[in-house]
Amino acid sequence: MRRRRQRRKRAIMAICFFLVVIAVILVATVALKSCDGKPNSDNKQSEAGLKPGKEDKEAAAAKAAAERQAKIDEADLLAAQYDYDSAIELLKGLEGYDTDTELQDKVAGYEATKATCVPVNIEEVTHIFYHTLVVDEERAFGNQANDNQCIGNNQWMTTIDEFNAITQEMYDRGYVLVSLHDLYEVETDENGNEVYVPATIMLPEGKKAFVLSLDDLSYYHSYDNYGYAARLILDENGDVMNEYYDAEGNLHIGAYDCVPLLDQFVEEHPDASYRGAKGIIALTGYNGVLGYRTDESYEIGHQYCDRHMEAWINAHPDFSIESERAAAKEVADAMKANGWEFASHTWGHLRVGDSTLERLQADNERWQNNVVPVVGETDTIIFAHGQDLEDWGDYDTANNAKYQYFRSEGFNIFCNVDATQYAVWFDDDYMRMGRRNLDGYRIYYNAIGEQNNVSDLFDAAEILDEDRPPVPPL
Ligand SMILES: [Zn+2]
Repeated sequence: MRRRRQRRKRAIMAICFFLVVIAVILVATVALKSCDGKPNSDNKQSEAGLKPGKEDKEAAAAKAAAERQAKIDEADLLAAQYDYDSAIELLKGLEGYDTDTELQDKVAGYEATKATCVPVNIEEVTHIFYHTLVVDEERAFGNQANDNQCIGNNQWMTTIDEFNAITQEMYDRGYVLVSLHDLYEVETDENGNEVYVPATIMLPEGKKAFVLSLDDLSYYHSYDNYGYAARLILDENGDVMNEYYDAEGNLHIGAYDCVPLLDQFVEEHPDASYRGAKGIIALTGYNGVLGYRTDESYEIGHQYCDRHMEAWINAHPDFSIESERAAAKEVADAMKANGWEFASHTWGHLRVGDSTLERLQADNERWQNNVVPVVGETDTIIFAHGQDLEDWGDYDTANNAKYQYFRSEGFNIFCNVDATQYAVWFDDDYMRMGRRNLDGYRIYYNAIGEQNNVSDLFDAAEILDEDRPPVPPL
């Protein structure tokens, strides 16, 4: 289940308020006692359990008021994120509900909003994705003439300013983030077989559901010195943030990539997310995950260890896979608690269509051994390079050995890359979904009018980062 950080924060604030009230009452009591010099008979009686003192009654009332307010805030958040039934159940379960007209009015309000909701057409849910965001345009894009990586950064990467502007614009147009796993249900058919069917998502009229994924959130060594964040961390408040090194090598801690930026956006706009959903993150394994060097390849001499990795290991003599995995797992656990989910992107960023079955099996074993211990099990594959097992439609499940292998390994959600507005496909045993790249290439060619395939989401000319140079054609 997703827990909601906002709700926890509000509950903590309510408890703090209550403690402050108690402290004030205690200080006042002590002050009164020392003034009149007499023992406080009320207090004695209350200690003996005979008759509660005035201050005890006030403290109990303050505590009850704080608890009631915390529950109201929790219900408001549930309702803002479209879970009206849970909000109603929560308030109806409070003591004194039957005589509390404020609570009854709130429930009537939730019920009225719920009555305006209409079912989302699951087959018209769009799915967008980003890679790691560019923080420093100069370092990422600066050398278009002589550095192929700067060209790649320009084509495939989105900047922080573009991401923030798209997020705001989609919110303003009524888009609501849902989980990939909100889209389907597994039902038992008349023959007793489990089948994948579209789920029901109810949203107020005018709202539109979308799914978000993030690819390659490994902070690969190849990104070093190109103006990207270095990794995800937990800051001193326990919030998921980035480490980022600027051009002078100074370390900054803050929101420098999609995860903390979206967390902050949903905290400020709870109705941007359906029941606390965030995105699903497609992870490879070969350079570790989330900026931690968690892969067994980092043991020097391992056959997959390349020169970047050996240089990194030499610069980190105290490195241990165990401590990297433990630190990465803390971040992944905090992300999951905030609504983020994880998917396989294959360990080695393979093209599943071109790779042999044997290669895919060995690769998936590496993913299971090196990534699952950090992020947990998943039922979703987000194909690298967008290359799918087969063309769009039903997979040939009876004859496709690669499909059969992935299915036997517990994968039943398969995502590729598709520029069309929406692509959702159900068969009995799985769901497929196409994803739209909102990268430099897509934004630029829409902004200059050579493509028109994002206007349902935003106006690309408004979004394009003014520090982005012209994007070379593919
Ligand atoms: Zn990728």
